[in-house]
Amino acid sequence: MLPYGTVQDAGAALGRGLTYAETLWFRYSADKSDYFLYCHNILFLFLAFTLVPIPFVLMELWPSDTFHRYKIQPKVKLSLAEVFRCYKDVLRVFFIIVGPLQLVSYPSVKMIGIRTGLPLPSCGEILAQLLVYFLIEDYTNYWIHRFLHSKWAFEKIHSVHHEFTTPIGFAAPYAHWAEILLLGIPSFLGPALVPGHMVTFWLWVALRQIEAIEAHCGYDLPWTPSKYIPFYGGADYHDYHHYVGEQSHSNFASVFTYCDFLYGTDKGYQYHKKLIGQLKEGSRSGGGQKGEKLSSYDWDGKCN
Ligand SMILES: [Zn+2]
Ligand SMILES: [Zn+2]
Repeated sequence: MLPYGTVQDAGAALGRGLTYAETLWFRYSADKSDYFLYCHNILFLFLAFTLVPIPFVLMELWPSDTFHRYKIQPKVKLSLAEVFRCYKDVLRVFFIIVGPLQLVSYPSVKMIGIRTGLPLPSCGEILAQLLVYFLIEDYTNYWIHRFLHSKWAFEKIHSVHHEFTTPIGFAAPYAHWAEILLLGIPSFLGPALVPGHMVTFWLWVALRQIEAIEAHCGYDLPWTPSKYIPFYGGADYHDYHHYVGEQSHSNFASVFTYCDFLYGTDKGYQYHKKLIGQLKEGSRSGGGQKGEKLSSYDWDGKCN
């Protein structure tokens, strides 16, 4: 709810005219409560995990080889029924855990100081805060994920997320309810330490979800914009973690690769990539059939 009656009042209070984005924000938010604005996150989360995985399902169903060549585990094909079951389970957890949690967690958002008023943050401020949120989330998530691979936590909690040894976009939030609660901490920590505007918070919630879906999409697409982000893990990186499964002691990080590099938990993945490179080299020099495409997962060995 904004404390101004009109755009002119808001401009007078700021001592300048409102930008186009600020005028839009005024028109949209002036008569809405902060709680209602915060609850938009439920809608954004729902839209992200419902709509963003759909293109990857269409790639899977595409009749020609156009997208199949980019599939990370090309020999595995999940049926539509399996994909739908995954989405149905995610929806159930969303309505029982994620949605209600969003509804009751507003006081903590208020307490940390997420603001809804004017002026809006600049693009630079939004980008800087999002970067900080991603870095904090990545680091904290890394250690929680390592804990989830301890024998007890894996058996009781994390094994649900690892049911998909060939991940799909819809499986990004597919996890035990306790894991969803636990991994809410890294997502909340960034905004708690560096509170910003509600718009930044919305963007953070949506982008984090989209990033997780991309990491689980099962396709290593060469044109994806995230390829240009330094130290970014991406789909191939996280796919390997699922491929190895329970025994995985590699690629714990959720977003970037530096934690696994620093703490020596990318060795299995690096070894795997090296072997694949050698296999491809061998096939190019006459070992494989002409035109044969060697995928990262055409070998049987797994290194954790
Ligand atoms: Zn894991
Ligand atoms: Zn995963």
